[in-house]
Amino acid sequence: EEDIDAIPALTARALRAAGGGGRTINVSIGTFVPKPHTAFQWEPQLAAVTAYEYIERLKRAMPKGAKLKLNDPQNSFLEGVFSRGDRRLAPLIEKAWRTGARLDAWSEYFNLGRWQETAAELGIDLNDYLRRRELDEVLPWDHIDCGLEPDFQARELAKAREEAYTPDCRVHGCQGCGLCDFKTIKPVVYDAAAARAEAPRGFSARPAVRQPEGAYYYRFTYEKRGLARFVGHLEFLQTLFRAVERAGLPVKFSQGFNPSPRISFSPALPLGMESLAEYFTAELQTPLSDLDGWLKRMNDEMPQGFNILEIKLTGKGQPLKIVTDYRITLPVEVPADEIDKFLRAGEYPLSVIRKGRKREIDARPLVRGIEVLDDSTLALSMVSEISKAGIKPLEFIQALLGAKNKNDENDKNDKDTPVRVVKLAWREDDGNGY
Ligand code: SF4
Repeated sequence: EEDIDAIPALTARALRAAGGGGRTINVSIGTFVPKPHTAFQWEPQLAAVTAYEYIERLKRAMPKGAKLKLNDPQNSFLEGVFSRGDRRLAPLIEKAWRTGARLDAWSEYFNLGRWQETAAELGIDLNDYLRRRELDEVLPWDHIDCGLEPDFQARELAKAREEAYTPDCRVHGCQGCGLCDFKTIKPVVYDAAAARAEAPRGFSARPAVRQPEGAYYYRFTYEKRGLARFVGHLEFLQTLFRAVERAGLPVKFSQGFNPSPRISFSPALPLGMESLAEYFTAELQTPLSDLDGWLKRMNDEMPQGFNILEIKLTGKGQPLKIVTDYRITLPVEVPADEIDKFLRAGEYPLSVIRKGRKREIDARPLVRGIEVLDDSTLALSMVSEISKAGIKPLEFIQALLGAKNKNDENDKNDKDTPVRVVKLAWREDDGNGY
């Protein structure tokens, strides 16, 4: 309660300290989720309904200039359940999956009701996982030994309640957590100079912020195949940044508190789609003298399924309008009549969801070409333009199949039809095509 009143007051002080003048401060608010193996593992979690009340209070009390970023309390509820869950939740996960739960970390797929209904069917009380645990209670994770003294977390909890500080043991001496044997395990304070001297090849251990030297832009074309198609765009970014670091590529970094490699990517590939024609553009400090050598060095560091095909010196800009070629394999006969109708149509409005809202987009000008290759395979070329809403190839194909099924009075659910889409190539748009 006190914290809820203190957050707007603290934000107002921070804004004043920032000097006003139209500055904004981002304030991220989320329900605290007690986690196992921490001092708060026994604490109850705030109920979602209370969290919503607090959010409303904060919205009313926040000063001008504060930008509230909110975590959905329903997400936190489920996170709390699984954070301190036990083996009874395994059948819940399986049953929820069988009833359609997928990608629940994405807000557009998250459906708490489904989890609650499934839990009720299995006789599981989800709220029970958020309750206060007794200090002498056997906890579901007690059999996992983290190496701490058994009573250390309870002592820390008592100190937290008294608002007592636990000093940093690297500077102020051992606090008795029990982790160190002081022979092989002991606190080590990072020494940047020593780390640089000891760094093996490929690990540069350089300071995060570097001084810019030159600016050389290289386009790396790569393929994403096999199981790698299930690696999402954001996960790939992190994987690539590590590969770049290990390979020792002289990439430039952005400035500021969170420097990150200056690398820009081709538009995100939908999850599950393979591609022979992805690219990223890296801004380097120095030119690369041996492109074949760098190709090998980078590929040695890339995970399975990702393969760099070409490295090419390029310019700073990204192509604004591109045509992408796809090969589409259907589990059913290609809807030749629907394709024919589409090609003759002046417009082809499709209803799609963008940023959680329903939109209608005319697919006709976005399809540059479509050709039947055999009974179950199509070649499709689609136009996409940066910062303009487009259509995904799968959405377009599902629409054609849906129209065919409707005409055939077939009850088949087009969303369940497994379609394989492979991105083959891309080029800047020259306006030629159908
Ligand atoms: S020095 Fe080691 S044993 Fe002591 S508090 Fe720190 S981590 Fe725990």
